[in-house]
Amino acid sequence: MKENIGFVGLGKMGLPMAMNLLKNGYHVFGSDVNENALIELQALGGNTGSMKDWIHKVQYVVLMLPSSVIVNKVVEEIIDSRSSVSLQDQNSLIIVDMSSSYPADTKENSRKLEPYNISFVDAPVSGGVKKAVDGTLTIMAGGSAEQFEKCKRLLHAVGSNISLVGPSGSGHLIKAINNYLSATHLLASCEAVQLLENFGVQPDKAIDVINQSTGRSGSTEYKFPSFILTEAYNSGFSLELIKKDIGMASQLFKDAGAATSLPEIVYQKFSEASNALDKEADHTEINKFVSNYLLKRGIINEDNEEVVSGGSGTGNNVRPGGVRQF
Ligand code: NAD
Repeated sequence: MKENIGFVGLGKMGLPMAMNLLKNGYHVFGSDVNENALIELQALGGNTGSMKDWIHKVQYVVLMLPSSVIVNKVVEEIIDSRSSVSLQDQNSLIIVDMSSSYPADTKENSRKLEPYNISFVDAPVSGGVKKAVDGTLTIMAGGSAEQFEKCKRLLHAVGSNISLVGPSGSGHLIKAINNYLSATHLLASCEAVQLLENFGVQPDKAIDVINQSTGRSGSTEYKFPSFILTEAYNSGFSLELIKKDIGMASQLFKDAGAATSLPEIVYQKFSEASNALDKEADHTEINKFVSNYLLKRGIINEDNEEVVSGGSGTGNNVRPGGVRQF
């Protein structure tokens, strides 16, 4: 028998994930504040409509939302939507928060929902839009083994590397730390490649050599060739969202009393980039910001860029023109 599943947050990640749930035989009931997202879900065969109409039909609700603030709001909406039926008659429900949320809020949601016969499992993802489309996301879950077991079939419909990493909140914790590391590699790689370019080393050559050496990372192996060297800057993961993740990681280090300033420095850089670039900027556009501050501080220079890039148009010039000065 087909299982019913609610899905809140049908954005860049959520829509392809909902598509894979549909492909795996689930009935999907979608919700989003953006009307176009609902139209897209309907076109894929999903159901839409008010949460109050579908909440009593579903065994799971997946959340794929921008922030903990919004997750917390939607959790309240779920409690409210179920209140038309008396508490003892409400079916058990598992909320699977696949967004990148704040671990302390996750723990609090898990505790708060218990009296409502609702379990809360954190199951954030990595792999980006491409793996969301392919259904091969990496999923790091937090919660009890029993609840994780109940979610496994659903998680396998959208991901392929799936593990329970610890108690409630630990999936979100590892996700925030992973993205802080990823952002740090990206920032360091952008600075390094631009410095090398200033010495006359072509960026694509630099990336080739680094990828055969110990300085490589997901940024040099995937993001540079796919989104930066091509100047496409279209990874589908926004600068705003990665800034949120680094901010969470920085706060977690502070809360733990850890004497490290690196998360805060990386957060500052991404915050400055977010102020300088367009609101919708992709996170790989941090490269444009790096270019600008290195130029401004005289660490790299425009003249050399012209010599090295041979007038651009080759797709290999990592320093795009026309970026805002700040
Ligand atoms: P997105 O902005 O494209 O999608 C978010 C969706 O939530 C939008 O469709 C928006 O309209 C909807 N929404 C906002 N408020 C809502 C509300 N109150 N009720 C219902 N819907 C609401 O974001 P995304 O890139 O899909 O990311 C979603 C989550 O996944 C974020 O937490 C992000 O950090 C995480 N994530 C993103 C990526 C990526 O590559 N984009 C990768 C891993 C994790």
